This record gives sequence, structure tokens and C-alpha cells, in this order.
Amino acid sequence: MDGLTPVEQRAPGKWQLGTVTSIKRETPTVKSFRLELPMWMEHFPGQHYVVRLTAPDGYRAQRSYSVASSPLDEGEIELTIDRLDDGEVSTYFHDVLEKGDRVEVRGPFASYFVWRGESPALLIGGGSGVVPLMSMLRHRRRVMPEVPMGLVYSVRSAEDVIYADELEDDVLLTYTREPPEGWSGHTGRIDSSLIAMATSDSETAFICGSNGFVDSASSLAMEAGIPPDRIRTERFGPTG
Ligand SMILES: Cc1cc2nc3c(=O)[nH]c(=O)nc-3n(C[C@H](O)[C@H](O)[C@H](O)COP(=O)(O)OP(=O)(O)OC[C@H]3O[C@@H](n4cnc5c(N)ncnc54)[C@H](O)[C@@H]3O)c2cc1C
Repeated sequence: MDGLTPVEQRAPGKWQLGTVTSIKRETPTVKSFRLELPMWMEHFPGQHYVVRLTAPDGYRAQRSYSVASSPLDEGEIELTIDRLDDGEVSTYFHDVLEKGDRVEVRGPFASYFVWRGESPALLIGGGSGVVPLMSMLRHRRRVMPEVPMGLVYSVRSAEDVIYADELEDDVLLTYTREPPEGWSGHTGRIDSSLIAMATSDSETAFICGSNGFVDSASSLAMEAGIPPDRIRTERFGPTG
């Protein structure tokens, strides 16, 4: 796995102040934030950071956000955040944070949801669940493009597609509500026919999204013959 994981996995770093270097609007509710970190540490694709906000009265809120960028982007990380109307932390990122502002983060946090070069790999994402999968895809494209990896990505409509300008042949999209005009691909929920088209003989699956999405996609991955212990899941639920 040379080039993929040049350093051994370590304990997460200390709290540090990242500086926002760019903000990109992805969809009407999603933005990507690039943060420059003074104590940057290499992450594995799939890992996440914890963000901590502190109000003037000392009240604190902290939430987890997956890293979207490849670990080859030295010195910085990208977080892609979906704005929840009544959310505390996601609204702060969307409505308050500007380029040049600083925000407190800690990571990267390890979980079993990391890609270490397993292949062929099947990635299944719903909505913002695509974020850690995009880190895997971006990294694989840069370090080992020959490795088979396919992403099945479920969105509601064309305006909800995150990373729209980076979706290549290794991505299969399905629109669950409203496909764009002239769309001849898959529509509706992910099903076994779409999984079969993604990568053949996948030995490992990474599935990320809401609870219901992860449950149904895991069943499909099992039906496709991927052993349960090779199906890794990450849930972006309300308890996150
Ligand atoms: C490991 C991990 C990685 C994550 N990575 C990402 C990421 O890359 N991008 C991203 O946008 N989010 C991600 N999340 C979700 C994120 O941590 C927050 O839960 C989310 O941003 C909401 O926080 P908030 O403070 O805005 O809302 P809160 O103030 O926590 O909640 C507002 C309301 O929304 C509900 N709610 C909370 N979270 C969700 C949710 N995810 N979906 C639907 N309803 C919800 C709550 O029940 C509440 O009613 C991740 C979660 C985990 C556990």
C-alpha cells in the first residue's frame, strides 16, 4: 500500500484553530470549507474531525464532520457540510463563517470506517453521506487509479448533487425524486441492479448516509455477496 498510507495511524491531534481558506457552494444547502491547519496530520480516507464552537458565555457545541479531501492535500482539510435549518453547528458554518475566519477542530479520529486500499471496493452514499466516500474516491484517483472502486450515489434531484463537477465514470447516480430532463440513467432508490453495475466482485463495501439509507444499502450489499464483516457503515444521524 505504498503511497496510500505513508504514516502509521496515530492518536488524534490536539485542539487547534483552523483557518478557512475557501468556501465553495455545492448545492442550495451544502457548502465545502477548506481549512488550513497549523498542526495538520495525515488522515485516512473515511476519517473525521470534531468541530467545537464556543459562545461568549462559554456554551459549547461540538459535532463530527468527515474529511472530504485526500490526505495528499498537505496542510489542509476539506469539510462538506449540509445546512439543517434548526441546526446549531451547520448553520454557523453556512451563515456566519467567512474566508479568513478561524474555527476550532480536533482530529483526525479513527474509526473502522477507513479505506486502506482494499479493492475492489463498493462505495454507497446517500445525500451528504457521500463526503467520506469522496475522500476515498479522490485519493484512489490520485494514488492508484487502476484499483477498481465504484461509487453508487443517491440524491433527490439534480440540484442536490454534491461534487457535481467531479463525478466521472466511476460514479453511478440515482435520482430518488426528480431526475434532470433527458436523464436516461437510474431513478428511484438504490436497488440490486444498480449495485451490480457499480463494481463486480467487490470484496469490501463502505456505506454512509442516514440510518434508514445505511440499513437498506447494507442489505443490498449482503445480497450482492459481500460478507457482513466487510461491510463498513457510517451513520450521520441526529445523535451525531
Ligand atoms: C462520524 C460522523 C461524520 C459526519 N460527517 C458529516 C459530514 O461530512 N457532513 C455533514 O453535513 N454532516 C456530517 N455529520 C453530521 C454532523 O455531525 C451533525 O450531526 C449535523 O451537521 C447536524 O448538526 P447541527 O448542529 O447543525 O444540528 P443539531 O443542532 O445537532 O440538530 C438540529 C436538528 O436536526 C436533527 N439532526 C441532527 N443531525 C442530523 C442529520 N445528520 N440528519 C438529519 N437530521 C439531523 C436533530 O435531531 C435536530 O432536530 C457527521 C456525523 C458523524 C457521526
